[in-house]
Formats: sequence, C-alpha cells, structure tokens
Amino acid sequence: MRAMKLPSSSSSAPEAGWFHPDDWHGLRARVPDDAHRTVAGIVREHTAELATVFYDTLLHEERARPFLTHELVGQRLHGSLQQWLLTLFNDDEFDVRAVVALQEHVGQVHARIQLPITLVSRGARILKDAISTHLRQSPLGRESLSLAQQYVGGAFDLALEVMSTAYLRDARRDVRSGEAYRLLSLGQNVAAERERQRAALLEWSQQVLLQMHMAPEQEQLAPLRRSEFGLWMHHKGGASFEGSPELAEIRTAMSRLDNDIVPALFVAARQGGTTTAQLARTFHDEIDQIQFLLVRLFERLGEIESGRDPLTQLLNRRFIPTVMTREIALTRQESCGFAVLLIDLDHFKKVNDGHGHEGGDAVLRQAAELLLDRCRSGDYVFRYGGEEFLVILVDIAPVHVATLAEELCQALRNHVFRLPRDQNLRVTASIGVAVYDGHPDPQRLIQLADKRLYQAKRAGRNQVVIV
Ligand code: GH3
Ligand code: MG
Ligand code: MG
Repeated sequence: MRAMKLPSSSSSAPEAGWFHPDDWHGLRARVPDDAHRTVAGIVREHTAELATVFYDTLLHEERARPFLTHELVGQRLHGSLQQWLLTLFNDDEFDVRAVVALQEHVGQVHARIQLPITLVSRGARILKDAISTHLRQSPLGRESLSLAQQYVGGAFDLALEVMSTAYLRDARRDVRSGEAYRLLSLGQNVAAERERQRAALLEWSQQVLLQMHMAPEQEQLAPLRRSEFGLWMHHKGGASFEGSPELAEIRTAMSRLDNDIVPALFVAARQGGTTTAQLARTFHDEIDQIQFLLVRLFERLGEIESGRDPLTQLLNRRFIPTVMTREIALTRQESCGFAVLLIDLDHFKKVNDGHGHEGGDAVLRQAAELLLDRCRSGDYVFRYGGEEFLVILVDIAPVHVATLAEELCQALRNHVFRLPRDQNLRVTASIGVAVYDGHPDPQRLIQLADKRLYQAKRAGRNQVVIV
C-alpha cells in the first residue's frame, strides 16, 4: 500500500459503470454510530503507529524491497500512508468522491511502478490485523465489535477494488503504448530501415570474406555483434522486437558466427586446408538465415498495425477470443451454434527441408487461399501458428460440421501446390473439430479441438477427428 498525496479533484474522474457510491454509503449505514466512530478514533490516535507496523513488516519482505527503501519510507511514504488511512476512515466529513479518487490515484501510481497487486493485498492485511487488535481492546460490546470488524474489512475491500481497477486499466494502456513505442523506435520508414539493416549485414559478411581471402593472417574484423548491424539489432532492434522468437534466433545465430564459425574460417584459411570451402558454405547459410529472420521480424510490425498475418493475410490469432466470445453471445440469442476447426499441415517440416523456406511459405499461402475459398464468407479463418490454421464455422448445425470439415480435408489433400521454379507438391492435413456445447469458456473449445487434432495425428494423419 503506497498511498500518495491526495490528487487534485480534476485528475482521474471515476469511470462510469463500476463506481458505486452506494456501496460505500451502505457499508457505513450497516454499522452503528459508536462502531465507526470507534474505528475512526483508533485510526486517528494510532495512524503513525499503524504506518510503522506496515512498513516494518514489508521492509522485511524480499519482493517488497525494490519498491521501498528506508529513506523513501522515512521521507514520504510513511506520511502518505497515514493520510490514506485518515481519508478512508474519516468520520467527520466522509466524501465518497474524494475517497474513490484517492484509490484511483494510488492504483495508477502502483501501475506506473509495476507494484505487484499481491503485495498491495498483503499490505492491506497487515493494516486490517493491526486495527483489529486495537478494536478488541476497545470498550465496544460484542455485537458492535463484530460489526466494526466487518466495516474495516469492507472498507479495505472496496478501496482495493477501486485501486485494482485503475491499476489494470493503466497497465493495459502501458502495453498499448509499448507497442506504439516499438514502431516509433524504428523510425518513420520501416521498409527503408529493414533494407538498411539487410545491407549492413551483407556488407559485414563481404568484408569478412574479402579479408579471409586477402589477408587471413591479420587480426579479424570487428565481430558481427559490434558491427553496425549488430549494434542496431542489439539496441533498437531489441527495443522494437523484444520477446519475438526471431530476435532470439538472430542473437543465437550472431553468437554462433562470432564465436565459432568466423574464427574457424580464419584458422582454416591460414592453414589452407580443404575445410575452408565447407566453412564458407556454413557462413553463407547463417547469413541467409539471419536475412530470412530479419524479414520475418519486420513483418511482425505490419502484423501489429493491420491485425493480419503478413504471410497469408489471414486474421491474426489475437482476435480469436473476441470473435469466440461474440459467437457465444450470438448463439445464446439467435444463431444455431458454431464450431472450431484446428487444421495442421502434415509433415510440414519435410516441405521446408526439401524445398526451402520459400517453398514452405508458398504452400502456406496457397493453403490459406484454399481455406478462405472453401469456407463461407461469414466464417473466420485465422493463422493459428506456423503451419496451423484455426477456422470458426459460424451459424452451423452440428450435423453439417463433419461434412464441411471432411470437405476441407479432402480439398487440401487433392490440391496441387505450386512451388517456385515450377515444381508441384501434394500436402495433407489433420483436423481436430469441436462443436460449441454451451460452455462459456472459449479456451475450452480450442483445447478440445487441439486434443482431437492430436488424435488425428496419432491415428495416421490426413483425417478429421470430431468426437
Ligand atoms: P506433423 O505432421 O506432426 O504436424 O509434423 P510437422 O513437420 O508438420 O510438424 P512440426 O511441428 O514438427 O514442424 C512444423 C514446421 O513448420 C517447423 C517450422 O520450421 C515450419 N514453419 C513454421 N512456420 C513457418 C513459416 O512461416 N514458414 C515456413 N516456411 N515454415 C514454417
Ligand atoms: Mg504444428
Ligand atoms: Mg504439422
């Protein structure tokens, strides 16, 4: 509980919808006057002591330490917490709006400093216990005492509810602005930046090869990590793409180059052995792989902006919960139900191994086209993962689901996929199907479809499993 100064009245107007002044008034109305007057008296008399117990306890906790230093507690927090307590249990002029505004403000501060919500509940428990101990020593009768305890508990619960609502709202806003920041840190022209980094990578690789041929005995060039490409990747790239799998792969590939491949290449070149050609090939492959990952990485930005998967133009999976929640609501009102199909291409790794990533990509694009073509325009087709698609068949009677799923499986099986360089390829898919059964949690339906997809794979692939 890190109560701050009372906010000015203009800041953070409580949101409509969840702000219930009646809850606060009701809480006080249920308690006889002598009970809440006693609570107010205890809080007034012992504010400083309560704040001390609070911070003494929390200062002993490992996870609280990053947020509290002795100095900070001494200078500011101790006083703010006292003010917070006095406002919450003020008996003279209880102003619901001011109380709510204060909780909002505290919740926002907690979100900014990313204080764990569990720590806030822990703090509330410490204060509740301390007030409760004082209450037991007060002259209140049994019934009033019990009501006073309830009142204290209720006030803390309401305060935490408002705080947590503000906290979560602000934390979500932070995530959104984090995404905006990613775009911003890349500069205005994303495509130009991508080309610049590709060129920087190629330039480094050409310099390495040139030096290896011309002067292998000299100290080797700056490692990739220290090159223009490496610096960009590490700093700006890190800020823009943190958390994406491609970034991690690029970093690993970079350290493979710097620590193993390039040093080995120079040793081989100096000795003039036959391994040089082989190592040069490995070097080329790594650079190719980084280039491929770099393109992917930049495509992710387009994904954030457009909500579509850049390779297939299908819907991004992050919209699945929204669509499913909507379909569940529609089923309750008017539609006759919906179904989820999880479609996974069989042995897709072999497609990549035999025809390169480019070939694999071509197959994914055509599979997506085929699915869009075969589904009705009201259905939803998402790219679910690498070679997995999720289809939501809307407004469909359960008896028709199996037929449609079989049709899709057959269409994929019969399709002749066109690869670059005029090659053709046949591919099959396994499909797991789950029909909406009235359960309100959309995630459960996907899990069911996933389980059946797994069954289809185990039963030999190239088939639909629906029950
Ligand atoms: P299974 O029949 O069990 O599904 O085997 P599989 O090989 O299809 O499955 P696995 O999960 O082992 O491999 C999936 C492969 O799909 C691995 C990954 O390289 C490839 N992949 C994932 N995303 C993409 C992509 O966007 N483009 C390309 N070309 N390949 C991808
Ligand atoms: Mg898969
Ligand atoms: Mg697969």
